[in-house]
Amino acid sequence: MLILVDQDGVIADFDRGFYEAWQKSGHEYPAIELQHRRSFYVKDDYPSALQTLAVDIITAKGFFRDMPPIVGAVESLNQLLELGHDVRICTSPLNTYKNCVQEKYEWVERNLGLDFVSRMIVTKDKTVVVGDILIDDKPSISGTRTPTWKHIVYDQPYNRHVDALRLSWANFRQVLKEAHPNFKHRYTLGELIQQCDSNAEPPSDLMVWDTARPIGNEILDYTLPEGVQK
Ligand SMILES: [Mg+2]
Repeated sequence: MLILVDQDGVIADFDRGFYEAWQKSGHEYPAIELQHRRSFYVKDDYPSALQTLAVDIITAKGFFRDMPPIVGAVESLNQLLELGHDVRICTSPLNTYKNCVQEKYEWVERNLGLDFVSRMIVTKDKTVVVGDILIDDKPSISGTRTPTWKHIVYDQPYNRHVDALRLSWANFRQVLKEAHPNFKHRYTLGELIQQCDSNAEPPSDLMVWDTARPIGNEILDYTLPEGVQK
């Protein structure tokens, strides 16, 4: 399955990076906490007189390079690869691209490794990119084509007004399994145990084994692990 994953707000923590940069700017207007963010574009959550400062922060050298990863993102992308999926980072740069484009690549190399750089697709129009799934925090994605992918919203406080299939890195296996019939899934032991009914009767063939009498040729193997004394 070809899974397209957006970068900002999905694997790179744009909001935490912005929050810290705003605080560092020393402006008396307080940085807006992530849980109070309501607009997709962070500048729109600030008074109009301060929006130029917000843009200056985002376009400054180092902003896109230095934002921290979203918790669980790096591990989850590697798990999707291990499950055999084709994972691509599909990201739209700012029109003021001078720092943004190169630093997006630097971020991926720093946080996901050099091999992941070849998995980057940088485009202003994600609808022209082929894929099965697009995981993106933008509430609605439009472009010049009818997309081949299904949009799953990466859950963020500023997109909760959208009634859509949503995912976070804490529950991505379950959501992708429901979203697409081709999603390969590997259960952990904990997930399997959760599905068990501890009050269920044991299966009848197990009862037969448990009550079977020895027939006389059984071999008992008491091999102990190395270093363990009888
Ligand atoms: Mg995004």
